[in-house]
Amino acid sequence: MSNANREAPPSAGRAGIKRELPEHFRDYRHVWVFIELERGEVHPVSFELLGEGRKLADKLGIQLAGIVLGPPGEATQHAVAEAFAYGADLVYLVEAPLLADYRNEPFTKAMTDLVNTHKPEILLLGATTLGRDLAGSVATTLLTGLTADCTELDVDVDGSLAATRPTFGGSLLCTIYTLNYRPQMATVRPRVMAMPPRTDKPVGRVIRHKLSMTEEEIITKVLGFNLDRQSAKANLAYADIVVAGGLGLGSAENLQLVKNLARAIGAEYGCSRPLVQKGWMPADRQVGQTGKTIRPKLYIAAGISGAIQHRVGVEGADLIVAINTDPNAPIFDFAHLGIVTDAIRFLPALTEAFTRRLS
Ligand code: FAD
Repeated sequence: MSNANREAPPSAGRAGIKRELPEHFRDYRHVWVFIELERGEVHPVSFELLGEGRKLADKLGIQLAGIVLGPPGEATQHAVAEAFAYGADLVYLVEAPLLADYRNEPFTKAMTDLVNTHKPEILLLGATTLGRDLAGSVATTLLTGLTADCTELDVDVDGSLAATRPTFGGSLLCTIYTLNYRPQMATVRPRVMAMPPRTDKPVGRVIRHKLSMTEEEIITKVLGFNLDRQSAKANLAYADIVVAGGLGLGSAENLQLVKNLARAIGAEYGCSRPLVQKGWMPADRQVGQTGKTIRPKLYIAAGISGAIQHRVGVEGADLIVAINTDPNAPIFDFAHLGIVTDAIRFLPALTEAFTRRLS
C-alpha cells in the first residue's frame, strides 16, 4: 500500500466543481500506458491507449510513458521502440527472464514496484484477458480505484480522470472518478479507441527497473502453451470486414449463410448475443457490449435488431449495412445502408453476386 493511499482523506469532490487536490497527490505525475506483450507480440490495444494517453497527457501538461514488462530480448526491445513510435515520451522497462510468460505474481510485482517508485497520476491498461487480470490485482495491491471497460477518457476541471463506461446493462453511461486515491486506473477494450498514426519518432528515454522477485516466490508455473486454434482464428476486433447474423436467421443451420458470405468477401463472421446463449456460435464471435468491439471498414448485420448493447460494439464501423424484415428495427437508426428484406433469401443471392464478381 502506498503512503498516498494510506493518507488519503475520506471526502470526495464533485465532478465539474473545482477543488483542491490533496497536497501529496502532486508527487503523482504522468500518464502511463501498459504495453501488453504476449508471446512476442504487442497487442494493438496498447497503441490505441497510447493515442488516448497522449490526449490526456497534453491536456494535463504532463508526459506520456509506456510500461514494458518482458524477458530480455528482441521482442521486448521492439515493444519499447513501438511505444515511442506511437507517441510515448519515455518508457519504463522491466526486463527479466521471469516475465517471459504472463503470470500474475511477477507482473503485479513489477508494476506495483514501478508505481510506488515513480508515481504515475493515471495508469491505463487494455481490457484483454491479460490486462483485466493484471489491472485488478495491481489496483487491489495499491488500494486504488479502477474503472473497467471505459468507452471514453477525459480530464475534469480539477485535473481528475473522468472515466466513462456503460452501466445498467448498457442503457446508461456513467462517469467514474478516483478522487482520493492514486494512481487513477482504467481499462479499455480493444478497438473502442481509434488507432493513432504511427510515427518514425526516434527512441526516447528508457528508465530501467529491476524485478525484485525470484522464481521460488512464484506459485504459478507455466508448463506449456496450447494455442486454441479456433479462437485464435477469430480476429473479429481487427477485421476489415465483418458479417454478423442475429436471431432473425431463425436457426443454427442458417448461420451457414453468414459464413458463406464472409468467405466469399474475405470477411470475419460474428453474431448477436442470443446466438451464443443458444449455443449456435462460440462466445468469441459475439459482437457488442459483452462481446467484441469492432471497427471494420464494412459491417453487414443480417437479422439483428440493433439493441443498444449490440450497437455500442459496432458503431465505430465505417459503413454499416443492415438487412432486416422490419423497417422499424432500431438498427436502421444507425445503419448507413438499410435493406428491408428476408435475410435468409437475400444472403445467398448476395454471396452469389460477390462470388461471380470476384472470381
Ligand atoms: P432480436 O432482438 O430478436 O432481433 C431479431 C431481428 O431479426 C428483428 O429485428 C427481426 O425484425 C429480424 N428478422 C426476423 N426475421 C428476419 C429475416 N428472415 N430476415 C431479416 N431479419 C429478420 N446483444 C448483443 O448482440 N451483444 C452483446 O454484447 C450484448 N450484451 C448484452 C449485455 C447485457 C447486460 C444485456 C442485458 C443484453 C445484452 N445483449 C447483447 C442482448 C441485447 O439486448 C439483445 O437482446 C440482442 O442484441 C438481440 O439479438 P438479435 O438482434 O439477434 O435478436
